[in-house]
Amino acid sequence: MGYKIVVIPGDGIGEEITSSAVRVLEAVDKKFNLDLSYEYHDAGGTAYDKFGVPLPDSTLEAAKASDGVLFGAVGGDKWDNVEPTLRPEKAILGLRKGLGLYANLRPVKVADTLVEYSPLKPELVKGVDLVIVRELIGGIYFGERCESEMKDGAERAWDLENYSVPEVDRIARLAFETAKIRRGKVTSVDKSNVLATSRLWRRTVAQIHEEYKDIELDNLYVDNCAMQLAVKPTQFDVILTGNLFGDILSDEAAVIGGSIGLMPSASIGTCTSLYEPIHGSAPDIAGMGIANPIGTILSAAMLLRYSLKQEEAAVAIEKACDRALEAGYRTGELWKPGFTKADTVTMTDAIIKEL
Ligand code: NAD
Repeated sequence: MGYKIVVIPGDGIGEEITSSAVRVLEAVDKKFNLDLSYEYHDAGGTAYDKFGVPLPDSTLEAAKASDGVLFGAVGGDKWDNVEPTLRPEKAILGLRKGLGLYANLRPVKVADTLVEYSPLKPELVKGVDLVIVRELIGGIYFGERCESEMKDGAERAWDLENYSVPEVDRIARLAFETAKIRRGKVTSVDKSNVLATSRLWRRTVAQIHEEYKDIELDNLYVDNCAMQLAVKPTQFDVILTGNLFGDILSDEAAVIGGSIGLMPSASIGTCTSLYEPIHGSAPDIAGMGIANPIGTILSAAMLLRYSLKQEEAAVAIEKACDRALEAGYRTGELWKPGFTKADTVTMTDAIIKEL
């Protein structure tokens, strides 16, 4: 028995935040006897410096053979002049492709103690608890494209949006399954008043819904959804959408939470899934020991929930993060007079104490 977790710290603050998350996993392991083990691998600029490539085969193979991947972040100015195909960020695309990461889950949950940090009014944000389920390896980002062609005497470019029924079927099932362990509501987002792909999307989601009659299904046009996220974000439980709309809506939803340092994500794969905070490698604060580790710690909680099916342990981590914030601990980007200023290690200690 036991579970093997591959940890890929990456670049910049990646090392600091993943070591915090592993400390929290070790603490929760003691409490729930999960028998977790860890294997460390390189990716991004760090891997480029050592091996000449951003994603060594050994990293991908280890990731495939693991029960879950905990990823920090990659990138940084140091590698700005590296040949485009070898840039650190290519590691993410390689992992997405290699692990078949077809869905991105982005939860946005605003703790009562943090409503004041949101750009929205506190009364709109209180109680927000939603997750965006975005299709990740299809749609317009992966369709045929033309960079430049001449037609009727004018230069033009084009990108093809393209979805198949099996692609929509797979992501829709994941959204309904996600709603099952949450509050039982899915809002499917498309632009079916204009786009053929959206009409196929809506039709397919409705068919899959036949198998999930206990789940409530709503449909929204993407423009309306963007507006509703700002006007009444508490109405959402699970938002299901395609790659392009999901990219935009998940960044809009992320700011509701107040700091990108707090936000986790999961990328669900056909065999192994990958968990990472939504922020980048933050080169401006790398090595200073002041990064907020909560986004990565909550990503580790998602790994326990979705890959290891250890719901109780996942909830324990989430509650410990809430309690550390309630106790007044704040990392630099959230600190205000009256709170306890915490560096990365102090914040992690406070969370472990609350476990
Ligand atoms: P970023 O998310 O790294 O940083 C944006 C701002 O947020 C910075 O001021 C940073 O200090 C702050 N920040 C980010 N995470 C924080 C945390 N945990 N605690 C406190 N403050 C935090 O975005 P960027 O500056 O646009 O990108 C930096 C590098 O990261 C680039 O090379 C970019 O390509 C890469 N990047 C990687 C990923 C990834 O690995 N998944 C995602 C986005 C960007």
